[in-house]
This record gives sequence, C-alpha cells and structure tokens, in this order.
Amino acid sequence: MRLSQPSKAGLILVGCFACGRRQDDPSHGQVSDWKRAVVDGEQVLICPECFPTVSGLDACTTCSSTMLVKRLGEVSCRSCGATWFSAQLAASARGDRSALADEVAAAIDRLLGGSSPLG
Ligand SMILES: [Zn+2]
Ligand SMILES: [Zn+2]
Repeated sequence: MRLSQPSKAGLILVGCFACGRRQDDPSHGQVSDWKRAVVDGEQVLICPECFPTVSGLDACTTCSSTMLVKRLGEVSCRSCGATWFSAQLAASARGDRSALADEVAAAIDRLLGGSSPLG
C-alpha cells in the first residue's frame, strides 16, 4: 500500500533539480543559462553547473537530447522538435484522475500567469 502522494506539480521550476540551488533572477537583457529538462515526466530546471553532469533525465527517443520541455502534458524536444505525451499523463489515463487534474490546473495557471521567464 502506497500512502505517499506525489505532489510535485506545485514544486517545479523552483530550483536546480540536481543541487537545489535557486535560480537567480536574470538581469534585464540577460538570458538565463539554466536548462529545462524532464525527469519522470516532470518539468525540472537544472543550473548550468549541474547540467553537463546530471543523470536521470528523460531523453528524446528520436535524437537522445535531454533538452525537453513539458507543456500541457506533452513533452517537446527542443533539439529536433519531436513531441510525445508524458509518462505522467499516460499514468493519469490509467485511472489516476487527481494527477491529471493537477496537471491541467498547473497548465492553466501557467497560461493565465502569462509570464514565462524562459519563454
Ligand atoms: Zn545545480
Ligand atoms: Zn529530439
């Protein structure tokens, strides 16, 4: 019996996936060096120092790039442009409706929030 409920939906994009360091606010006109990737179907941020060495990232099945972006339950490869549904969404389809609801709510939050510092 599993009692722990994954509640990562509200915790994404807060710090480095590998070292936990918080992302610095990029100054005006500066582009953040932080990388976005996907781990277990969850969008994560990785600082420039950890990105070359971090392991466990989901990789594109087409080009093996780990520069993935998750959006509306769909994962996109920033390298070759391939898209596919995230494993989490597939799990949701198998009956975990609360995870799907969280996913949709998070997506709506992002849409309504408007500002996405990483584009
Ligand atoms: Zn880091
Ligand atoms: Zn790719």
